[in-house]
Amino acid sequence: MTRTYLQTSQYEQLSNIRRWQIHAGSNHFCFNGHCITGRNLSGAIIVICLISLTSIIWLVFELPILMKEFNNSSLWILIIGFLLILYTYIYFFRSMCTDPGIIQRPSSIERTILRRKLNLDKIKSNDLNNLMYDIKINNILIKCKYCVTCQMIRPPRSSHCAICSNCISILDHHCPFLSTCIGMRNYRFFILFLIFLLQTQLFLFATSLIKILIYINDRLFSQSIIPSIPSYFILIITACSALYTCNLLGYQCMISSRGLTTREDDKGIYMNENPFNTNSWFINLARKLCTSLPPSAYGAHRLVNQTEYRLIKDNV
Ligand SMILES: [Zn+2]
Ligand SMILES: [Zn+2]
Repeated sequence: MTRTYLQTSQYEQLSNIRRWQIHAGSNHFCFNGHCITGRNLSGAIIVICLISLTSIIWLVFELPILMKEFNNSSLWILIIGFLLILYTYIYFFRSMCTDPGIIQRPSSIERTILRRKLNLDKIKSNDLNNLMYDIKINNILIKCKYCVTCQMIRPPRSSHCAICSNCISILDHHCPFLSTCIGMRNYRFFILFLIFLLQTQLFLFATSLIKILIYINDRLFSQSIIPSIPSYFILIITACSALYTCNLLGYQCMISSRGLTTREDDKGIYMNENPFNTNSWFINLARKLCTSLPPSAYGAHRLVNQTEYRLIKDNV
């Protein structure tokens, strides 16, 4: 098929097109492509509603009573509670809205080169799913799979998320509670979210328990069943959710300290030899959480030029 170049008027229109507007995956974008989320936001909406409801109940019903009882340290209760809730929100949205490490699909030219190089036309479509290529990292042989949807060989540790329809660098898992993939670029925000969420849950649980104990101590308990309902609500919600958060955070710390991702641990990849394990739990954790954040390779907010537009558009 003969390829035609875009007319000047089309090119002028194109000068305002950003990469997210011709994105091939199933993501939502806002703030001109600076914010990327998954397709189904229901999980994230439920989580944010639960955090907001518990926080509002604590601020309205618990905090005034605690500040009155602990007159000397009332300001500290307010500051700690406010900061914990604030940082929980910040890291919730940072992990939810950061590009997890979307890998740009190859252009039509790159795909043609790959097809010829790997003789893909001679391979049956069913066998393409199992197509693997060996590469060596730290003298350990690892397998890189061919992605049928993105039509490329995935880099090591990356995987295709069927929900978001993208290949993600160092994919950990698709988190239904954050409605996004957790990958190379948002894993640290996910861990920080879990840390602040757990601290907030424990703080709200402890302060609500103290309020109930104050009522019991003052023998007001029998007369104050109705005012205690918010405290019981917070106790039940925070106790149940803190157990889950603690379990999840502990598991993530355990696999990260072994140089694994959730997907690798779940599928038993690198059970015998792990080229990404430095044999030091501290360095493994530091590599995942403390190294500088790589810039978004996908760059959904970037303007596309004429050549790039044609090459990307061929993929859609
Ligand atoms: Zn893919
Ligand atoms: Zn996903």
